[in-house]
Amino acid sequence: MELAAVVDGLMDGLVADLERLAAIPSVAFPGFPAEPVHAAHDLLTGLLRDAGVERIERIDLPDTAPVIFAEIPPPTPDAPTVLLYSHYDVQPPGDERLWLSPPFEPTPVEGGLRARGIADDKSNVIAHLGMLRAYGGRPPVGVKIVFEGQEEYGSAFDTYPPTDPERFACDAMVVADLGNLRPGTPTLTTGLRGAAEVVVEVRTLREPRHSGEFGGAAPDALLTLLTALSTLHDVHGDVAVDGLRREEWAGATYTEDEFRELAGVVGGVPLTGSGSLGERLWSGPAITVVGVDAPGVDHAASAVVPYARAKLNLRFHPLQDPHEAQGRLVDHLRALRPFGVPLTVTPGDTGPGYEAATGGPAYRAARDALARAWGGEASYVATGGSIPLVNGLARAAPDAEVLLFGAQDSMCNLHAPNERVLFSELRGTVVAMCAFVENYAAAFRAGDAA
Ligand SMILES: [Zn+2]
Repeated sequence: MELAAVVDGLMDGLVADLERLAAIPSVAFPGFPAEPVHAAHDLLTGLLRDAGVERIERIDLPDTAPVIFAEIPPPTPDAPTVLLYSHYDVQPPGDERLWLSPPFEPTPVEGGLRARGIADDKSNVIAHLGMLRAYGGRPPVGVKIVFEGQEEYGSAFDTYPPTDPERFACDAMVVADLGNLRPGTPTLTTGLRGAAEVVVEVRTLREPRHSGEFGGAAPDALLTLLTALSTLHDVHGDVAVDGLRREEWAGATYTEDEFRELAGVVGGVPLTGSGSLGERLWSGPAITVVGVDAPGVDHAASAVVPYARAKLNLRFHPLQDPHEAQGRLVDHLRALRPFGVPLTVTPGDTGPGYEAATGGPAYRAARDALARAWGGEASYVATGGSIPLVNGLARAAPDAEVLLFGAQDSMCNLHAPNERVLFSELRGTVVAMCAFVENYAAAFRAGDAA
């Protein structure tokens, strides 16, 4: 079939459904009403049924929005099964005054639409639906659909798949909660950095003391903390904690100008660290001080500060063990005695990274599919953000190839005000999904997948 023409014929309907879905404020955070989440669930269940899917279930877990699970059996015994993942909940809109239009009123922008969650991840839910429609509900592979309803806020579903491996068994999975490095650049995300938190505290005095009478000999907790924090990086800004894995990044990455623009770096301020951006962002560690407790400037007394603490967020190489990486940072801090003062170091949450194996038939099928969709070779990138469920799904189906691509792009303001999606990316993703299942089924028929 002439894929591109078929998909072009579907676009008006897909965009209309994306608008309906994005108009529902399906925020699955505590304090937000559950009804819209259920409304989005019900809308999608109906759309799947209309697309020809007969077996649709919901998975209900404690304190977790319902997960849509649906299945289309393989058309022939030799056809592979592909699991399609995306999520229908969205981030809260944040400060609505920063939005150029109401976050749950999908609004036209140049080449696309603006709304909360319209890219992350409703665009990819609709892309999956588009593939099913293109094949009239009978794609050339078996399909398992997992549409999660509480991805943006931690849920019991993250660790559920390995407890029910038969349900999630598949040959390949398309985790569509991502997109292209830049619009029009076909991109497969092959790595996710791991994350860990550490809190460091300093107590030096029972309470504040006059800085004129005591300063100079009374130990300053804030200065002690800052001295400790200053050892985490070298003079170039590279992480200076031993034992954190750092490797060259072999895939594609942003240009420095793109990155400066995306990060909103102020003029005259250089970027931090050395080596390629891929290495600094994806295949090496990063330590960010995400919070400090100390007296605020406006209400600061002239007193020696008796207590201070900081929360550190560590990101590490996709393949480094989370507890090992966190342990290296904890050991580094515990070994310090700034001005002879011991620090109290408390390890917090950790999350593993992920690195995909890229040598199998699903990757070959996907590389060709992405090239057909957007033109040009597919780039490999990684991301610093984590998708906890990827590890859960990968443990449930350890032999399945995991493909991460989709209709978002790095300029679509994920989790930020004025989120937007481009029609070109949505269309490309539908074409890529269709071409992928076609290529992958053909590889199995030809016996190339053995
Ligand atoms: Zn997402």
